[in-house]
Amino acid sequence: MKCDLHLHSTFSDGTLTPEQLVDEQYKRGMDCIAVCDHDTVAGVEHAVKHAEAKLQVIPSVELSTFCDREVHVLGYNVAYKDSDFLKEMNTVANYREERNAQMAAKLREYGFDVHLDRIKERKKSVIGRADFAEELIKTGAVKNRKEAFDKYIGKDKCCYVKSKRLTVTEAIQLCLRYGGFPVLAHPKSLRFQTKQQFEDFLETLVKAGLAGIEALYFSHNIFERKYYSRQAQKHGLIITGGSDYHSREHGTPLGNSFNPSKYTKMILGIK
Ligand code: AMP
Ligand code: MN
Ligand code: MN
Ligand code: MN
Repeated sequence: MKCDLHLHSTFSDGTLTPEQLVDEQYKRGMDCIAVCDHDTVAGVEHAVKHAEAKLQVIPSVELSTFCDREVHVLGYNVAYKDSDFLKEMNTVANYREERNAQMAAKLREYGFDVHLDRIKERKKSVIGRADFAEELIKTGAVKNRKEAFDKYIGKDKCCYVKSKRLTVTEAIQLCLRYGGFPVLAHPKSLRFQTKQQFEDFLETLVKAGLAGIEALYFSHNIFERKYYSRQAQKHGLIITGGSDYHSREHGTPLGNSFNPSKYTKMILGIK
């Protein structure tokens, strides 16, 4: 069975629409995919409708959270049409709106011709730093996204503005309240210095109700995959995997997949 449970669409910072993701993954023989846009479920319905019987789409979201570091929580099978859930997601979107307005003002302070209105004209849904990077490229200030992050909008660079975020516990509980399964995304990117530090952190997430770990992430080597899988098994968590495909330059190419265990299939309802 071929699954890719971590994809971004144009509703956040991916380059393909949800429909294109479905078509491209279907062509590659994928059985099940998850559209996990940053802090929005607005693209889910498009993928679900377009997929029909071609492949299964798991409704998902990738929540950006902050504790003492940036932590991403994947929420699988959240009730993406529930009006209370959408209200809560709206609050999360407002945190981002505030940050974006401050960031645009800061970029202008530094002399860059960056306006939020212009981004909003071309962008349907969640606006993030990748969109600011694109504006900086368009104005000729930088050559590419990497340069934009390295020089200006990466963490703690001159035009960086920290966003109000859910805590990781709040994100886990938000998923649980709406029937979702919260999974710790790409744990390697947390950059804990020791395994013990990671394991202590994981304990707090498990207590909050964490359901899984994205152990089979594209940038994890075989040892890391085994280590995170063992940690998941130790706590009775599911093991998931995905490409984190955004574009040809960001994430791993489409077509890479993982084969979920019976337990993961049962919990996520993968047919
Ligand atoms: P935001 O959630 O708006 O703060 O933007 C975060 C997104 O920007 C991440 O999910 C990545 O897709 C992208 N990003 C963060 N850091 C970098 C970087 N150093 N280079 C390129 N893209 C990045
Ligand atoms: Mn992204
Ligand atoms: Mn992420
Ligand atoms: Mn992602």
